Amino acid sequence: MVELKNVNKHFGALHVLQNINLEVTKGEVVVVIGPSGSGKSTLCRAINRLETIDTGEILIDGKRLPSEGKGLAALRADVGMVFQSFNLFAHKSILENVTLGPVKVKKMKPDAAKDLAMGLLERVGVANQAQKLPAQLSGGQQQRVAIARALAMKPKVMLFDEPTSALDPEMINEVLDTMVELAREGMTMIVITHEMGFARKAADRVIFMADGQIVEQATPEEFFTNPRSERAKDFLGKIL
Ligand code: ATP
Ligand code: MG
Repeated sequence: MVELKNVNKHFGALHVLQNINLEVTKGEVVVVIGPSGSGKSTLCRAINRLETIDTGEILIDGKRLPSEGKGLAALRADVGMVFQSFNLFAHKSILENVTLGPVKVKKMKPDAAKDLAMGLLERVGVANQAQKLPAQLSGGQQQRVAIARALAMKPKVMLFDEPTSALDPEMINEVLDTMVELAREGMTMIVITHEMGFARKAADRVIFMADGQIVEQATPEEFFTNPRSERAKDFLGKIL
């Protein structure tokens, strides 16, 4: 579903992605962890072309990501992304936040988009907030709207970049629960998070990155109980 082959990326002299090879299969949930600055966000951003890459290739559902134009918009629609900051459109209602993409990009009829959006808002538990503006919702609610908004594009894969790290502790679980549900429903997901509870519950595979490289990958069970590399042991020692 997502395939990275020999992907390299530099920021000036910094070799931020070093020959990354990664294949995520349909329905698989991959959690990416690693120290700050190891290249996790850059990896995610490269997958939907928010960042360019220097060499290598990235395939989504067998198709190579074009760097621009119509093909890019279509492929981006296949890749949903949820960020740490919710990035909702501040001056649009919750409902409009979710219908905008389907109407503008997918040319869906407004009524159909509304039905779709209400169904998704229901699914993430915020349908009763549909007429409000983002600022009137809690952080956890806003992040669930961001998930609904991404799902409205019917993506083939969902990318999450530390979706709970800006949230107050009591709101983290409501967002993680939504993600666990999505994983159980078979969504292909790449999730950058240090929430080990989520990894244990939902991940098929944990990828540990350090210094722009995939240092280690294993099942959550294996990785947390028996990390092989010194880097991973050291990292887990700090966060667990
Ligand atoms: P964190 O856990 O702090 O989010 P990360 O693993 O997501 O870290 P990245 O954001 O991918 O790390 O950054 C990897 C490295 O690339 C860092 O050293 C960062 O400073 C650098 N970097 C990221 N974006 C840019 C940019 N646009 N220009 C220059 N350097 C950048
Ligand atoms: Mg990051």
